[in-house]
Amino acid sequence: MKKHKSTININSCTHCATCLSVCPVYEITLNERYSPRGKISLINAVNKNLINPNDKFVQETISACLMCGKCSKICPADIDISFHLRDFRSKYMKNKYPSPALFELSKKILPFSKVSEFLANKLYNLNKNDVNSDSKSKKLLNRIKSVKKILLFAGCVHKYFLNDVISHIKNFFYDSLLIIPEEQTCCGMPFWSGGKKQISAMIQKNIDIFLGYSPDIIITGCESCAFMIQNNWKDAFDADSNYSKKALEFSSKTMEFTDFISKNYDVRISEKILKSLEGDVLYHSPCHKTSKNTEFFLKELFGKKIKILPDKCCGFGGVFSLKHPEFSDDIFKKKINGTELNNIKYLITNCSGCQLQFMKNLKIYSKNIKIVHPAQIIE
Ligand code: SF4
Ligand code: SF4
Repeated sequence: MKKHKSTININSCTHCATCLSVCPVYEITLNERYSPRGKISLINAVNKNLINPNDKFVQETISACLMCGKCSKICPADIDISFHLRDFRSKYMKNKYPSPALFELSKKILPFSKVSEFLANKLYNLNKNDVNSDSKSKKLLNRIKSVKKILLFAGCVHKYFLNDVISHIKNFFYDSLLIIPEEQTCCGMPFWSGGKKQISAMIQKNIDIFLGYSPDIIITGCESCAFMIQNNWKDAFDADSNYSKKALEFSSKTMEFTDFISKNYDVRISEKILKSLEGDVLYHSPCHKTSKNTEFFLKELFGKKIKILPDKCCGFGGVFSLKHPEFSDDIFKKKINGTELNNIKYLITNCSGCQLQFMKNLKIYSKNIKIVHPAQIIE
């Protein structure tokens, strides 16, 4: 029987260097220390008591990872490198990553939406009025009059920072039964990246709330949330536990918004966007993606007007962009050098973290480009 990737020991590394070719942090530093191979060598040295895990050099190196997972996907020895990095963070960097409990508490005691709005404006200079919600569209084509019960997993960034995306998703489904459970919480991605094992309580809460509605489908506008739900939720529980089965049920019903609508609805570019579409559009595909259809769907929609950016990380990585802002900016500059922005009117992406990264960094090119989610440009 094939071993689960995460159980494959880091000693199996053959030093082949394949992982160096895909790591965004190595690409900008060209420093072995920051490569996936370098990081697991450090963990190996810690495991052999050759170096102190609390050493500043070790801590700083292990924190310089976006958890994009590209190294784990490509490693010929099947080592789940990002699993070992999270495991290290959970053992030795406990207080350096956000805590799920503190997150829940802060939501209870602070006017969270006001605080988050303030923080978002400070960090990302958001201009939330770039694309405003229209009133309900009257121009439906042959949209399927679905009787399915659809639930929306909002995701924290869209819920607290970029609520206009949620408004557009609501508008899109106005003739279907769309339920947005109020009490839902985070998908757990920021805590999972820090190796926090307590995310099971958070996931359990979401499972209880959502499955309590007996949904037919659960959609989310954020690819990172979809990725987290589909790939990692089940691992938060013992394999034979009831919640592991429920997590599998949740994940089997979860689809990213664009993927779902492109397969089930007759969609077109919204009138408002069409009227202002003097230039072309660019699409950025997130590292954490579940949809195989989005690029094809957008090409069908925009024809020759759409350009697809090369499949490279944008440099966000959640906590990574706060801990290593220079690395984050440099990775962004490797992604975008400016020439690909000529004649571009809209940049489309369907990951909320990538949206923030583009909002913050595209400003350096002084172009009047609006960063939008697919829900904001279709009807
Ligand atoms: S790709 Fe895998 S085996 Fe090769 S150097 Fe990286 S971690 Fe080691
Ligand atoms: S997860 Fe991504 S950023 Fe982290 S070591 Fe692997 S390739 Fe590099």
